Amino acid sequence: MTEIPNRSPVESAPLHGPEEVSGPVPGADATGLRVPSSGPHRVVIVGGGFGGLTTARGLGGAEGIEVTLIDRRNHHLFQPLLYQVATAVIAPGEIAEPIRAILRRDRNVRVLMGEVEGIDVEGRAAILRDGTRIPYDTLVLATGATHSYFGHPEWERYAPGLKTLDDARRIRARVLLAFEAAEREDDPAARERLLTFAVIGGGPTGVEMAGAIAGLAHHALSQDFRRIDPKRARILLIEAAPRILGTFSEDLSAYSRQALERLGVTVLTDHAVEDVSEAGITVQGRLIPAATVVWGARACAPRPPARGSGSRRRARATSRSGRTSR
Ligand SMILES: Cc1cc2nc3c(=O)[nH]c(=O)nc-3n(C[C@H](O)[C@H](O)[C@H](O)COP(=O)(O)OP(=O)(O)OC[C@H]3O[C@@H](n4cnc5c(N)ncnc54)[C@H](O)[C@@H]3O)c2cc1C
Repeated sequence: MTEIPNRSPVESAPLHGPEEVSGPVPGADATGLRVPSSGPHRVVIVGGGFGGLTTARGLGGAEGIEVTLIDRRNHHLFQPLLYQVATAVIAPGEIAEPIRAILRRDRNVRVLMGEVEGIDVEGRAAILRDGTRIPYDTLVLATGATHSYFGHPEWERYAPGLKTLDDARRIRARVLLAFEAAEREDDPAARERLLTFAVIGGGPTGVEMAGAIAGLAHHALSQDFRRIDPKRARILLIEAAPRILGTFSEDLSAYSRQALERLGVTVLTDHAVEDVSEAGITVQGRLIPAATVVWGARACAPRPPARGSGSRRRARATSRSGRTSR
């Protein structure tokens, strides 16, 4: 894959944050916004996460501006507590709020539920999956991040990530059903596999997930089974780097490791995952049988919507560094 040299502002704009990507606008005023020839200035925001909502709220009530926020979901999701849904601590509804309700008071903001599938840059319109065109003068892409499986998309099947309520529900089901299956399992090796939970990635998401699974196994469920002892479940946190929480200070990283170990989590640093399969995970050439694997590693910008007018061009992929390439 080769990087695109001298990319235009539109092509080089990252898609994971609230970025204004409308590019150089003929007739723009000093603020860079196009001066509308007639009618209000139309701002289209794609994404109702923190970025999109903050932008919409900031423009709420602004004179001469008409905002359309588009999201494929009808709710805003408070992602920082997803791990608690995934470990059955709280219910999904506690971290989801209707986007319409949040923006109710901002009368110049309308909300559309729909998936943006392409951007017609020359024609200045967002294109929804059903072909509907939403014209804009200024476009804000705030579509969040997605998981990167280091070039192994086939791992996702065995190691779901944690970004949406569906992800959290899926992980919760896998975790709880693993204990149920272990209770009925006669074969000790199979039982051990069922009671091994591997979390890949020692960033904030992985640390929270591993700690929460340990809390579930060693406390919440500890008295509820007869044949198995949930306290004996193995919770592994696998990190390729020399320490967990590598973007934080070394002190915090060491403190977190100790706290996790006190909770009963086995922290394996300097362990890069080499394979993920139905059987478990492979690290340092060794298979660790594990029935439940959760992906908490690396986020990257989502695949950009196709661009160009008329027939849509092939969407460009992003590299591991998040840069656009072709
Ligand atoms: C498990 C977890 C724990 C976290 N914990 C913390 C924490 O403790 N502290 C912290 O500061 N941050 C935390 N974060 C990070 C934080 O949640 C994100 O940085 C933040 O949500 C990013 O906001 P955003 O608006 O960029 O994207 P998002 O919140 O991801 O929102 C993107 C929105 O765009 C919509 N969308 C995407 N593509 C399309 C499309 N094509 N058409 C229409 N709509 C689309 C999505 O439905 C979504 O609503 C955590 C993240 C996760 C996953």
